[in-house]
This record gives sequence, C-alpha cells and structure tokens, in this order.
Amino acid sequence: MGKPGAFMEYRREVPAERPPLERIKDWQEFRLPLPEEKLRQQAARCMDCGVPFCHSGMVLGGMIAGCPNHNLIPEWNDLAYRGLWREALDRLLKTNNFPEFTGRVCPALCEGACTAGLVGKPVCTKSIEWSIIEKAYAQGWMVPRPPRRRTGKKVAVVGSGPSGLACADQLNKAGHLVTVFERSDRIGGLLMYGIPNMKLDKRLVQRRVDLMTAEGVRFVTRTFVGRDYPAEKLLEEFDAVVLCCGSTRPRDLNVPGRELAGIHMAVDYLSANTRCLLDSGHRDGQYISAAGKDVIVIGGGDTGTDCVATALRQGCRSVAQLEIMPPLPVRRAPDNPWPQYPRIYKVDYGQEEAAALFGSDPRHYCVMTKAFHGDGQGHVQGVLTVQVEWVKDAYGRPVPREIAGSEKVWPAQLVLLAMGFLGPEEELLKQLGVQQDQRGNVAAEYGKFATNVPGIFAAGDMRRGQSLVIWAINEGRGAARECDRYLMGETRLP
Ligand SMILES: Cc1cc2nc3c(=O)[nH]c(=O)nc-3n(C[C@H](O)[C@H](O)[C@H](O)COP(=O)(O)OP(=O)(O)OC[C@H]3O[C@@H](n4cnc5c(N)ncnc54)[C@H](O)[C@@H]3O)c2cc1C
Ligand code: SF4
Repeated sequence: MGKPGAFMEYRREVPAERPPLERIKDWQEFRLPLPEEKLRQQAARCMDCGVPFCHSGMVLGGMIAGCPNHNLIPEWNDLAYRGLWREALDRLLKTNNFPEFTGRVCPALCEGACTAGLVGKPVCTKSIEWSIIEKAYAQGWMVPRPPRRRTGKKVAVVGSGPSGLACADQLNKAGHLVTVFERSDRIGGLLMYGIPNMKLDKRLVQRRVDLMTAEGVRFVTRTFVGRDYPAEKLLEEFDAVVLCCGSTRPRDLNVPGRELAGIHMAVDYLSANTRCLLDSGHRDGQYISAAGKDVIVIGGGDTGTDCVATALRQGCRSVAQLEIMPPLPVRRAPDNPWPQYPRIYKVDYGQEEAAALFGSDPRHYCVMTKAFHGDGQGHVQGVLTVQVEWVKDAYGRPVPREIAGSEKVWPAQLVLLAMGFLGPEEELLKQLGVQQDQRGNVAAEYGKFATNVPGIFAAGDMRRGQSLVIWAINEGRGAARECDRYLMGETRLP
C-alpha cells in the first residue's frame, strides 16, 4: 500500500495542460506529463482500501463501476509510489495490452470508483498508468518479445482498432500466426482515424504496431475483407477468424436540406483531417476545411468535442455544439451513486479551447435541428433549430416537446453530424452468414465471443456496440482467449 494517510497529506494533481490559446495553433498532444516526484506522491494517495472498486469492472445498477479490464490498480500504484517502475510495468501489462492508449484517452472509470473520491478527490490512476508505460518505453523496456514456440495455427483478425490489436497481440503471445486485415491505409482503427492527434499522437499508435510487427504479427492494409479479399477464403486459409470491424454506421439526421453540400459525418471529417496531417502536414489539402467558416457540430458527446477542437485548429470563424438533451447535473444524481461512473457535467478540452478563443462554452442544450438551409447554389448556409423541453409520454418515457416561438437560424457553412453510431456494416456479415442481434450488432455472447459460425469470433464495438477503447481491449483479449481454446482445446490466456 502507498503511504498511510497520503490521501490527506497530498492533494490530487493531474497532468498540466498546455494553455488553450497556445495549443490550438498546432496538433500536438495537449497534456504534459507529471514530474516523477509528483507522480510518486499521487501514487502514494492510493490506500489499497479494503473494498477497492477501482479495478472491479462490475455492473452495478445497470452501469459499470471500475476498470473493465480489472487492472491491478492498487498494486501498481504502490509500486509507483516506491519508485519500482519496472515492477509496476509488469503488473500493468498483465491486464492491459496498450496502457499508452488508455492512459491518454480512457475516461477513467477507475477514478469514478476510487474510495478516495468518496470523501475528497480520487487517485489520478489514469495519469499514473500513462507514466508507467511511457517510462517503460523511455527506459527501453518495451522490446519485442516474440513467442518461444509457434503452434502452426493461423488466425485472421479483421479490423485493426483496439479490439483487433489486443486480440492479435494475445493470439500471437499464444504462438499462433496472426494476420490482421485492415481496409484503411494505416493500422489502428479509431485510434488512428477517429481520436484526434492532440489527444493521442499517431506516432504512438505506429510505435505499438511496429512492436507487434517485430513480434511476428502480420499487418495487411488497404484490404477490405469481403471486397478485395473474398470472405469465403478466410475459413479456407485460416484456422479461425476474429471479426473486429467496429461500429461504423453513423447515425444520420434526415431533415429537409440534408442533401446540401457542406454537411458531413464527424468521422469522415476527423479521419480526413488526420490522414492529411500525417500524409503531408496539411499541405496536400485533402481534408474538409473549417477555415473561415461558421461551424455547427450536432451532438454534444466526445466525438462532437473532437470536431470542435479540430475546427478551432483549422481556423473556423465560429463554432457551436448543439445537443438535444439537457446538460448533465453538476453533482452525481441520486440514481448515479458512487462507485458508478459519474454522469456529471464536464468541460472537456474542446469546450475549454472554444471558450478561450470566443469567450463562451460552445455547447447549447435542448436544441433540436429542424432543417438545413441552402445558399441557392446547393451549399449549406444555415441550420434551423427549435428549443425543446423534456416531458414524459403516456408510458413515462422522456420525450422532447418543442417550445413554440423558439426557432432560430444559425449561420453555418460547415455542419458536422456527431450523433453516434448504429452498429456494424452488414456486407461482410451477410457473406459469412454471421447472425446479428436485435440492435444489429454481431450476436456473440460476452465472455464466449463465438458467433453462430464455428471458428468465427467477434469482439469490440462490432459486438458490443459503440463503446470505449478499454472495452475494445477487454473484448479483444476475451475473444483471443476463446479463439485459443477453440484451436487448442484448452487455453492459458487470461
Ligand atoms: C471520434 C471518436 C473519438 C473517440 N474518442 C474516444 C476516447 O477518447 N476514449 C475512448 O475510450 N473511446 C473513444 N472513442 C471510442 C473508441 O474509439 C471505440 O470504442 C474503439 O475504437 C472501438 O474499437 P474497435 O476495435 O471495436 O473498432 P474500431 O476502432 O472502429 O476499428 C475497426 C476497424 O475495422 C476496419 N474494418 C471494418 N470493416 C472491415 C473489413 N471488412 N475489412 C477490413 N477492415 C475492416 C475499420 O477500417 C477499422 O479500422 C471514440 C470514438 C470516436 C468515433
Ligand atoms: S484503463 Fe481506464 S479505467 Fe482502467 S485503469 Fe486505465 S484509466 Fe482506469
């Protein structure tokens, strides 16, 4: 355990962030690492308490509490406090294949469940995780560790997001020859082409891909399985298949004017921006530019925030983020008790930056989009909205009711739709005869990950629906374990 009473002695400190007006001038990461002395103090705050929910990953009252991967948090916090970074790394890597990703982008369900958070501020577990893994890379401890023996079995993983990468990493460790197919030009799924560079530097994604390549994982890019590579060949050429294709069908907004130019899906906007940044430092112009435009982002979630932050860096004239729901409460609601993940109002990096530049938070709540207005030449020039209030219908379900006279037209030459995802694409699933559940996700029970087709497994957003990087890693690991069991009759994978 860390230093007794340290949670009273030291206040919680999280990594500093570069000033908003400075960081919007570039695409570099905006969080700065904590110095070692501070880190050890922060790790000392962990009391290895009697009921450590931080690593429980339990569903309580329909909501997750703690880390889904059951990361051994009190153990590595104590090791970090004592400066035993190598030992801390060993504990960290036991449960998490890619702490360099979660240490940056995870919403830190662990911190929401931390006992210190009951009476004060939680331990800054996410920052400690980040520091352990970055120290390991800096010290040269992250070297390729190919498996000692190969089993002779071949596995295809389709999709290279965090679930596909975690699955491939685990199966490779078990000695199978793994080929990861990716239709995009770069490996990483939404780690590469969803989450912007300022939250997760793409060199770090490539650093991990290079390590896995050196350990024997084969990556095949620009190959759309089901089009460039026939689906039926998968089970002929491989002993097992794991589908990790993500939840890639974005929710659309079918209101009048939707056909106008200048209205884009958020992921198309974000991925084009990152690709162009990586290909040419934005010199080839192959991206959707917000420069000099009034930008409306529809959707108040994290993807919308990434759009706001990207539009600011591109030099937009103004930006507003419209959300149909009311704002979350400032403190936990009675039906959202500790140790559930706190569903509370937060100001994220994009909103902070917009406020610094334009003087106010860009979010507007209880706003419903009614129509897009054109400029007469086929391009969007405005968004018609109405204010709503939330009332209960005859069945007690909350429904929006328009407030008469609250219509407003927002100037907009660029509109970004960030309203979530509806599930996986069906083309490959149909070709393989893989069944979907009522929500359209791949039907494969959590924990077993097996589809109705023998030898085909599924993991990540494709099975679970739109979720988080840590869940994708969790599912990729689980699917690898079950795939290994299928291939070998038993498994030692966790
Ligand atoms: C903009 C945005 C920001 C986000 N930010 C965060 C965040 O900050 N923190 C967080 O925890 N989560 C975040 N998420 C969610 C998180 O990124 C996803 O939950 C996670 O990436 C899902 O992983 P996955 O491996 O299941 O799928 P994905 O990452 O979607 O990867 C699926 C891959 O499969 C490929 N593919 C699909 N079909 C085929 C095919 N037929 N052949 C070959 N390849 C195929 C796709 O090209 C893609 O690369 C964000 C999501 C978005 C959209
Ligand atoms: S992966 Fe997320 S929830 Fe788990 S320990 Fe890291 S920050 Fe916490």
